[in-house]
Amino acid sequence: MHIHTCLSPCGDWGMSPKAIVEKSRRMGLDIIAVCDHNTAENTGAAIRAGQKNGITVLPGMEICSKEEVHVLAIFKTLDRAGMMQKFVYDHLPGKNSSNLWGNQIVVDENDEVIAENFNLLIGATTLSLYELVNKTNALEGLCIASHIDRPAFGIISNLGFIPEDVQFTALEVSWRMSMNEAAVSIPGIEKFPCITSSDAHYIEDVGKVWTGFMLEAPTFDEIRMGLAGRSGRRIVL
Ligand SMILES: [Zn+2]
Ligand SMILES: [Zn+2]
Repeated sequence: MHIHTCLSPCGDWGMSPKAIVEKSRRMGLDIIAVCDHNTAENTGAAIRAGQKNGITVLPGMEICSKEEVHVLAIFKTLDRAGMMQKFVYDHLPGKNSSNLWGNQIVVDENDEVIAENFNLLIGATTLSLYELVNKTNALEGLCIASHIDRPAFGIISNLGFIPEDVQFTALEVSWRMSMNEAAVSIPGIEKFPCITSSDAHYIEDVGKVWTGFMLEAPTFDEIRMGLAGRSGRRIVL
């Protein structure tokens, strides 16, 4: 549910949508979400590459709030992701320096370079956590607090707690911490479904960890039901 492409300035050049999907298939993943920093411009290519490889790809973004908290916003359709991307771009100041932060490459599903993105994708938006969570929910997306156990850009390290009135769909614990450890060390975690994901920036990390779901099919709607534990769908870590 959290894979970066070569469009993220910190994403490796080898992280093309095609390469990610092929690695996902080799790792036995059925469904992935592509979540670049503050952009969804490579998700269409990833979806098309996924269709060729029998992998469901959900379009998402990893958005940085003004409090410097990372949140995954994952959508059912490219249209919805595009609406969120416009909202984010309207609140994302600055220009990228490729020397400083790295290149931000938009590619197609065949690894052809289409464009370079010059927004400061590594930066924080001017959106509060509430604003970006509310917008994601209004667009019927999944809203998942990223790597809540991490000292950088995690909700606990930056806010100190998980606000009760923020409507997260789920929380993500990074591969560095076990779920058991997270359950005893992170206050408030028990109120939310929890997943783990690779947050891969390099191809070798795709599928390093994953979340198992009991679902009827690898689809957005089923993942939502799985996170909510509805109608027999559930997380089976
Ligand atoms: Zn992050
Ligand atoms: Zn990430």
